[in-house]
Amino acid sequence: MSRPAPTGRRSVAVTATAVLGVGLAGLTTVPTASAADPGHASGTCKTQNDAVGGWTSYPQLLTELERMERTSQGKVDAFSIATTFQGRDVMAARVGTGDKVALITGAIHGNERTGVESLLRIVDQLGSRGDAATQQLLSEVTLVAVPMLNPDGLELNQRVNDITWDDVVAQNPQLEGAPPAWYYRSGTTRSSAGFDLNRDFHPDLDYVPTAADLPGNTVDPGFYLNAESQGLRDLYVDLHEEFGEVDVVVDLHHMGPCSITTGGPQDGKPITVTVDYPPLGVNDGAAYLEEYPLLDQDKSRRYALSVMDGITGSYGAQSPLAGVGRYVHFESREFAGQGRSAFALNGSASVLFEVRGQSNTFGQKMKGMMTTAVQTGVLSMLTAMADGTVETLDGDDFFDYPDYGWDTVAD
Ligand SMILES: [Zn+2]
Repeated sequence: MSRPAPTGRRSVAVTATAVLGVGLAGLTTVPTASAADPGHASGTCKTQNDAVGGWTSYPQLLTELERMERTSQGKVDAFSIATTFQGRDVMAARVGTGDKVALITGAIHGNERTGVESLLRIVDQLGSRGDAATQQLLSEVTLVAVPMLNPDGLELNQRVNDITWDDVVAQNPQLEGAPPAWYYRSGTTRSSAGFDLNRDFHPDLDYVPTAADLPGNTVDPGFYLNAESQGLRDLYVDLHEEFGEVDVVVDLHHMGPCSITTGGPQDGKPITVTVDYPPLGVNDGAAYLEEYPLLDQDKSRRYALSVMDGITGSYGAQSPLAGVGRYVHFESREFAGQGRSAFALNGSASVLFEVRGQSNTFGQKMKGMMTTAVQTGVLSMLTAMADGTVETLDGDDFFDYPDYGWDTVAD
């Protein structure tokens, strides 16, 4: 799809700042980046630094969720949706009583941690504040957050989880002799092997892996080979049953360290967050509609727009932190095996966040700024759900936002 010329943005009427008082104090500057090399700005662009001090660890996640359950007087409910191969619980936290449902995941890639931090903050905030705006939101929306979907990978500070193909075959004897799934990585840096969990989903929520389907390829659905993706699928099915539909599924990621916007008034600005709708191939995923008629790409773009407008509105369009753009989405881009795609094919809106940087390339200041930006975007979306604003947006306005250089770069 061609990119219309970016125009001045208006923001959704009610922003997270106004309603929920997200603290933005002190978040007015970020390091500047060179625009000479789009997508690879120098200066802010560090690619190697393994220090991950200051980020929430798996044991700290358990402690924090326990505390929130205790102090929220029953408003926050934390529970396990799966046990990983290394024996860790994949924890979910639920808050709110509304009949609109948002399912939000963080750290499906273990070295992308902003989602963990922002979701813990959001659940804590919604579970502890007594103000009228918060109570109104919670009466309209139920938030189910899975802050750390891949705790095994997070503890190793790596993208994939921590399980070998032989372990998977031992759990699925019908796969004996089949080639490993294409998204299996043997011999990773820190563990013997693991899976890119964000390729392990299938829109057929009853799918059972068979040897004949392996190894698959990038555009095809995944195989639900891992406890983490199975647990999220089961949670989605349960919510679908309880509420009739899951309004939106959001997945929080990091996009790497070197990204700036190109095009329009924000040209050259360091990206804060890019947002996306599901990558399901040409003609807006039309080929899937016969089998999955509930797919609604425009709906996903409306929800994405509520995030973008909310961040832009909260920071002010001139702030460097309002560097909000569209994530990589050339027309043929197709990843049916991503969780967001599988759930979108079942009728949910689906929004991807990609903050600038990788968690191990952030200093403490950048960590705080990016976490707050994600928090602002998510709360803006929840607010727009609660007051109905999200339904009044024009999904085509999504394309008014700039990209960060990908449409001038070869695939
Ligand atoms: Zn990621």
